[in-house]
Amino acid sequence: MSRIYNFSAGPAMLPEAVMDKAREEFINWRGTGMSVMEISHRSSDFVNHVMKPAEKNLRELMQVPENYKILFVTGGASSQFAMVPLNLLGNKKSADYFNTGIWSQKAINEAKRFCVVNIAASSEINGYTMIPSPEQWQLNPDSAYVHYTPNETINGVEFPMIPEIDNVPLVADMSSSILSQPIDVSRFGIIYAGAQKNMGPPGLAIVIIREDLIGYALSHTPTLYNYNTYAAHDSLYNTPNTFAIYMANLVFTWVKEQGGLKKMGQINQRKAQKLYELIDASNGFYRNNIERIARSRMNIVFYLPNDELQQLFLQQSHEAGLAYLKGHKTVGGIRASIYNAMPEEGVDALVSFMKDFMQKRG
Ligand SMILES: *Cc1c(COP(=O)(O)O)cnc(C)c1O
Repeated sequence: MSRIYNFSAGPAMLPEAVMDKAREEFINWRGTGMSVMEISHRSSDFVNHVMKPAEKNLRELMQVPENYKILFVTGGASSQFAMVPLNLLGNKKSADYFNTGIWSQKAINEAKRFCVVNIAASSEINGYTMIPSPEQWQLNPDSAYVHYTPNETINGVEFPMIPEIDNVPLVADMSSSILSQPIDVSRFGIIYAGAQKNMGPPGLAIVIIREDLIGYALSHTPTLYNYNTYAAHDSLYNTPNTFAIYMANLVFTWVKEQGGLKKMGQINQRKAQKLYELIDASNGFYRNNIERIARSRMNIVFYLPNDELQQLFLQQSHEAGLAYLKGHKTVGGIRASIYNAMPEEGVDALVSFMKDFMQKRG
């Protein structure tokens, strides 16, 4: 059976070249006679050929400045919802959060266990279809940090800019947009991301953190929730998710070979544009509810005229080799997730299916 185009929001498609490479060396990695999963995370093989290259490749790709550490943390992005307040609150009592979608909400709910959450801006009453403009933001000068979700994976809404924040660290949950375009890391205190959207298999989070923010965790912080534990031990304090880090490194290498983030950004822009253009030209047959300037480049959410057509669309698209297009249960509709690993031909195939479907049913 050949591979299909998988539009899942995560775990998501991985580049075929990466899968081939992993298969090639699955049971005999670099002539060791072992799988990369079967060797010690402290062995020089693993450290020199996975851990260090993964860090170096990501640093190069994102042009991470010298005064930032890159940490490999087990537990996915959701663990960061607690790690961020535990490590950044210090003697402050509150933190600012943007509420722009379901993932923001989850981060907010977790933060409330540790501090007072000030909602700097919210688009909840708009059904999370836009990003509030800076004139509407109400930042609290006493907050320890400002947290936002640059791309809301479920709602399909994306910040068109990096918020301008003075004095306190800006923290971004970049799970579904990391590596999708060049970004100025120096604007952030912390960038974190679960690997399973744009970097590799699930269960691994990447944390890029400015060094001066490390070392101030609250005293009751569990060891594995303290950034200092990872920084002081090169992310090898306990056994990390070695296979996920290995896969992520293969993805980093692949992205570099594709021409880096500038090139990825251009391709991603083009892929998203093809879908939005068709939606906009469909005379309302396909509808996207997001304010134009805040439309996600990664998760394109749209609706058909009724439930019946939506069901038929999902069924027939699946039969045509276009899988996992069902929208998240909280928002319904169709969602096409088109991260780096989705080839442009996959988007072309979807566009052509949508045109065809509209012609027959519109
Ligand atoms: C997927 C996702 C998460 C959750 O990641 P886990 O690894 O499952 O914890 C958090 N934030 C965003 C923006 C996501 O897309």
